[in-house]
Amino acid sequence: MLNGKTALVTGGGRGIGAAICKKLASLGADIAIAALFRNEQTDALEKEITEQYGVRAKTYVCDVSDAEACKETVRQILADYGNITILVNNAGITRDMLMLSMKEADFDAVLNTNLKGTFHMTQACYRTFMKQKYGKIINLASVSALLGTAGQANYAASKAGVIALTKVTARELASRNVTCNAIAPGFIATDMTKGLEDQYLDQIPMKRAGKPEDVANLAAFLASPESDYLTGTVIRIDGGLAIS
Ligand code: NAP
Repeated sequence: MLNGKTALVTGGGRGIGAAICKKLASLGADIAIAALFRNEQTDALEKEITEQYGVRAKTYVCDVSDAEACKETVRQILADYGNITILVNNAGITRDMLMLSMKEADFDAVLNTNLKGTFHMTQACYRTFMKQKYGKIINLASVSALLGTAGQANYAASKAGVIALTKVTARELASRNVTCNAIAPGFIATDMTKGLEDQYLDQIPMKRAGKPEDVANLAAFLASPESDYLTGTVIRIDGGLAIS
């Protein structure tokens, strides 16, 4: 379904990003993994993707909070693969604490990665998508932006910004046949949420955490031609956590 298409996944080395890389590869897409570091994990992921799915996979070291690094990464990917059709803005961090003790540096770090990172990479791909007159942008938001989770002033604000960026991007690129949608996961079992189960599981109507693969399946739909008329939406995947 995605043969001949290239997917750029930021923060693709582990967690939800890695699951998205594998799912899109299983549908035939070549994969560009943008990661903070190249390490054993990214090497193993590249190997698994190429061997198991017969598509290309390569890691590009890129800190998404650095606008120039994003532009250079996109240049390199275009030189290597010839196209970028799918952009998944997945890189993200948390630095949770009550606002009372939250340092400005912790606020900035989360905004710089989660919100500015999404802006930088979208901007870096913008012209390519316009010229191609086709593209799929998938932004990782969070139910935290919808609920205003206590202890996450920086994170919730960054993800609310991601939702706003999603809508702006969708409107700006709609006439070019480029869609942009946001996924708002609830509690997904990854390194990010390790040790926080007791705090959240009780509040989830389905009484269990989601898997990275659950999010990857939704990302695959948003990356595929089956969702070509869907743009500017925010889709929750949370076992009911943020039902309103
Ligand atoms: P994770 O396991 O902590 O993985 C985060 C990934 O982002 C890692 O690969 C990390 O790279 C990368 N990253 C962090 N800062 C980066 C930067 N400046 N530049 C490039 N890459 C960077 O997190 P996850 O749970 O998979 O989360 C993925 C996305 O889903 C995030 O945007 C997160 O906010 C969102 N989300 C997650 C949940 C959840 O319950 N897990 C819920 C809602 C939303 P390294 O490996 O090099 O550190």
